[in-house]
Amino acid sequence: MRTGFSWHELFAWHDAGTYPLPYVEPAAVADSADAKRRFRNLIDVSGLLAQLQPLLVREATDAEILRAHAPELLEKIVATSRAGGGSIGRYAHIGAGGERTVRLAAGAAIEAVDAVLSGEVLNAYALLRPCGHHATRDASMGFCIVNNLAIAACHALDTRELARIAVVDWDVHHGNGTQSIFWDDPRVLTISLHQDGLFALPGGQSDETGPDPRHTTNLNVPLPAGSGHDAYLSAFERVVLPALDRFAPQLILVASGLDASSHDALGRMNLHSDSYRAMTMQLMDAADRHCDGRLVLCHEGGYSATLVPFIGLAIVETLAGVRTQVVDPFLANVARQSSQKLFAHQAEAIGRAQQHVAKVATP
Ligand code: ZN
Repeated sequence: MRTGFSWHELFAWHDAGTYPLPYVEPAAVADSADAKRRFRNLIDVSGLLAQLQPLLVREATDAEILRAHAPELLEKIVATSRAGGGSIGRYAHIGAGGERTVRLAAGAAIEAVDAVLSGEVLNAYALLRPCGHHATRDASMGFCIVNNLAIAACHALDTRELARIAVVDWDVHHGNGTQSIFWDDPRVLTISLHQDGLFALPGGQSDETGPDPRHTTNLNVPLPAGSGHDAYLSAFERVVLPALDRFAPQLILVASGLDASSHDALGRMNLHSDSYRAMTMQLMDAADRHCDGRLVLCHEGGYSATLVPFIGLAIVETLAGVRTQVVDPFLANVARQSSQKLFAHQAEAIGRAQQHVAKVATP
């Protein structure tokens, strides 16, 4: 089996809470279980699941979580969980006993990284909930309680003595938590492609390149709303891939939000399953060039219960080198829209990020 896959039923049971709306009846937040559970079920029904290596999902320990987070945040999560659930931060909620699910998602990310670094599998997709990339060292926010990917990256840095890890975040929202956790750590290059002006503001602009102006350790590509296939592929060609080629990572991690899709409730981008298929292929090629193919995707956002399963399947098919019989029923309609073309204002935004690539340190 060349590709590992992680999922746990408790991820679907995570209680993400309701929006605090003062004038209408409470409404469940966008982060429902549906999109993730249906993603997992399409992997199963398509026949692909039987061709994947199931990966261990276990609870992350205090010590593992505290590599990326402050003790006060963990204490707050534990206390809130034991008190029957509640808010942990801005749009961040857990239910009664939710601490266990938070630990399971972080532990699954660690195990996925370990499975790839030990050579058990070539690459892996960890389908996780709650998501993680907005969580900073001190604060949960934006449906993210702890930063699963950052915890896994810290685990790899500490226990495997890696010197260079690259994080590519294609969630439609800025990967502010991951950026901030590794801001002072030149061992981790963080790259975020996101819709300009979305959660979590402020931040996410292309001039946020790290603490040392001589060296780029963080790249942001804030794309205008409406960006489609050609804009994302251009951002890969001009920013992501040359940055990876300069940095020469020993492991590539992906914050895999599927909310840059054309049907998303929270984003206004226009990607389709073939866009994610192409981006996955490009990262696999980069991983082949630099780190023997070692690539781990940790699931983040993605709120279209109808489209996310087909995008997720396309990504995991690509990782596994398998093409199932499933045809994405949305693809043709989305792919032929004129919004898939690269427009001048999008190219300008990509250009503003590209100018910082030449300062990415080479080994
Ligand atoms: Zn998102």
